[in-house]
Amino acid sequence: MDVLVIGGGVVGVSCALELAKRGASVTVLERDLVGHGCSFGNAGWLTPSQAVPLANPAMLFKSFRWMLDPESPLYIQPRLDLGYLRWLIEFLLSSRKSKFEPGAMALVQLCTASTNMWEALAARNPAFSSFERRGLLAVYEHARNFAAAAKANELIMRAGVSAEHWSAEEVRHREPAIIGPTVGGYYFPDDAHCKPYEAVQVLADEARAAGVRFVERAEVIAVSAPHRSEPRSVTSTAGTFSAERILLAAGAWSDDLGRMLDLRVPVLGAKGYSLLLPKADPHPVRSIYLIERKVAVNPHKDALRIAGTLELVKNDFSINQRRVDVILRGAKSMLNLGDAPVVQELWRGLRPCTPDGMPVIGRAKGRGDVWLATGHQMAGLKTAPASGVLLAQLMTGETPSFDPQPFRGDRF
Ligand SMILES: Cc1cc2nc3c(=O)[nH]c(=O)nc-3n(C[C@H](O)[C@H](O)[C@H](O)COP(=O)(O)OP(=O)(O)OC[C@H]3O[C@@H](n4cnc5c(N)ncnc54)[C@H](O)[C@@H]3O)c2cc1C
Repeated sequence: MDVLVIGGGVVGVSCALELAKRGASVTVLERDLVGHGCSFGNAGWLTPSQAVPLANPAMLFKSFRWMLDPESPLYIQPRLDLGYLRWLIEFLLSSRKSKFEPGAMALVQLCTASTNMWEALAARNPAFSSFERRGLLAVYEHARNFAAAAKANELIMRAGVSAEHWSAEEVRHREPAIIGPTVGGYYFPDDAHCKPYEAVQVLADEARAAGVRFVERAEVIAVSAPHRSEPRSVTSTAGTFSAERILLAAGAWSDDLGRMLDLRVPVLGAKGYSLLLPKADPHPVRSIYLIERKVAVNPHKDALRIAGTLELVKNDFSINQRRVDVILRGAKSMLNLGDAPVVQELWRGLRPCTPDGMPVIGRAKGRGDVWLATGHQMAGLKTAPASGVLLAQLMTGETPSFDPQPFRGDRF
């Protein structure tokens, strides 16, 4: 089989690798450099404990309140655009418990398998030295939220995630990096973290070794009309390519590319920021989630990465300094970062979000020649390796290792 992958982010690279391992001839077309999209500077969490759909009952009511707050962790940009309004309506409908729970179970399963695959990659490849499985601590500042978490955690525990309840004293004792007020936390021992760009680079090296060809600075600008018996022709800024099958893995840009392929791929960009800072003192032992502030903390060995905010903005790439400051302030109130921490890197990325909060992995509606691997929202890094396996199994007719139903490519 001969496959053209559009998009060289962590998802496209994972799919390319798994297809090549199964004997396919694979070319990846990447507009920029491999891994320079949303996969570049994300929080680097590999955390089954946090792998739930964005559309969830807890967000539903908060999102309305947050719309009016310029410093809220979630922002919905008001826009008069029919596609956008349709996305928002579908998002609200998907936030029901009956939709959320099966989605969460499927995502946790994909993430657990992926974390094991990342761990195996780190064990065989010393270049992936940032991988550490030290768990994640979700820290609470308000007793009511801490009490409510017990119920929310039941679901992910049913999916096989281990969780420990830590009192405030235990949090301070076991994670001395927390210097702000806390009422306690939940510790998820099986979670891991890494440097996200390092992860994509190492995976891309494996894919190259398996025979995948990467063409960088190749922006796809047109695709020939469907013609079942002939290969499709794809025009890019680096020349024209043809292939029997096309795999669309273009993250937040999948919506526009989907239109080129005569498909509705309702993926909306949700912007978030990450900041790279010098190490904290004390430096966290493990990943920390400042849960009420929605700030993710990843303790690299040589730096501290903090990340947060989710702005539903489509492809608006501007930086909202006010929201960036909120992330930094939130981290400073709980960790010792010094009086004026130097921001070594400020990065923003667009999470590819579907309205039901579930990735799209599988055959496009009514097509044998176009496949989709996109819409991984806040969980692309943590679910990419198993997404690649599932996609490659479906494309090559193998029995899938994961239930493909929740991820079906033809559900929109
Ligand atoms: C602040 C923040 C924190 C996050 N933290 C985490 C985390 O801790 N763990 C986690 O699992 N996920 C996290 N995420 C989400 C994660 O980053 C994404 O889910 C993931 O990177 C999506 O990967 P992707 O390959 O689908 O998309 P991308 O990495 O964006 O790749 C898509 C690629 O397609 C290319 N492309 C677009 N258009 C074209 C075209 N016309 N022609 C050719 N190529 C094209 C782009 O250049 C890009 O490289 C976070 C995201 C953000 C913003």
